[in-house]
Amino acid sequence: MKTVLIGVGQAGGKLTAALQSFDQQMGFGAVLDAVGVNTAKADLQSLPFETVLIGQDRVNGHGVGGDNELGAEVMQSDQTEVMSALDGRVTAEAESIFVVAGLGGGSGSGGAPVLAKALKRVYNVPVYVLGILPGQNEGAMYQVNAGRSLKTIARESDAVLLVDNDSFRASGESMSEGFDAINQAIARRVGLLLAAGEAVEGVGESVVDTSEVINTLRSGGIAALGYASAEASPDAEDNINAVMSTTRRAVLTGTSLPDANTADSALVVIAGEPDTIPRKGVERARRWVEEETGSLQVRGGDFPLDSGRLASLVLLGGVERSERVEAFMERAREAIEQAETEQRSDPNEMWHNDELDDLL
Ligand code: GDP
Repeated sequence: MKTVLIGVGQAGGKLTAALQSFDQQMGFGAVLDAVGVNTAKADLQSLPFETVLIGQDRVNGHGVGGDNELGAEVMQSDQTEVMSALDGRVTAEAESIFVVAGLGGGSGSGGAPVLAKALKRVYNVPVYVLGILPGQNEGAMYQVNAGRSLKTIARESDAVLLVDNDSFRASGESMSEGFDAINQAIARRVGLLLAAGEAVEGVGESVVDTSEVINTLRSGGIAALGYASAEASPDAEDNINAVMSTTRRAVLTGTSLPDANTADSALVVIAGEPDTIPRKGVERARRWVEEETGSLQVRGGDFPLDSGRLASLVLLGGVERSERVEAFMERAREAIEQAETEQRSDPNEMWHNDELDDLL
């Protein structure tokens, strides 16, 4: 799926850079172009693509300090600048646009839903959001911001591919080392998904096509992506178990959103040397995903890759009813209640919502 990436906010910019770099290293060419948008000048400086500083009249390049309402307002008023930076980048080749943002902060959290809405009005390709959920140990403000942003994004975009920071955090790493590792893990998964429909060699009936990714996301709402890989044997017959077990691991332990196993639709992509991919294993893996997710719409396909390994990439569409998303929304609501209690003793408390309002 040829795409244009727009990273909003700090996390959005860094993850966009990781995605672009993975796509370039692998020589896929699925990422056509990338743009970074932020209210904080310092966070834009290290990004290796064109950037747009918004909200200069309001925050003078210093960021919105976690205020996502301000992040939304600033994106609204400086939308024209952002849209002009995209002129000529979303070419006829583009099959989608991805807005990339951390949902817990201010600029990305507030800006992404506003931008997604504006992009949908102008472009004919699907507008997806790659959204990062804050970890459970991040403060209440992050949970509230992400809850409101997620609700609004799910409504305004064609689908939101959700990544929970907790699902990739390794112990013993510093925060920034941790983020770099998380960004690389996400870039690999999303990068492979984007490239999957782009395969040209060995194109055949079983090769996955971009339209299957788009159809899997068509139900909208929230999507999750799982990934796992294993050593491949040269003989396809010997890889039936490997395909089954990587697919199970992709859904059960390797997913961007843990416990997201109730889905409306799914796409199972098996990546590897075409001769090593067992048809029987692929069929079994699809059936297993059908049973596990309760979805009757499970698509499947191969992604021919020059590699000694086999990987299973499972895209799940429409996972908003799953336990993890409900648990997160509950966490966001609790954070609001807690904030209200604190607000009584601190009149300057930043948010004053009595429920999880939308941002737009
Ligand atoms: P913004 O610049 O105001 O949009 O705020 P940030 O992008 O810093 O968003 C804060 C949220 O993103 C928090 O939940 C952080 O944990 C998370 N975050 C910040 N940087 C990164 C990063 O590089 N990678 C990932 N995966 N998450 C990040």
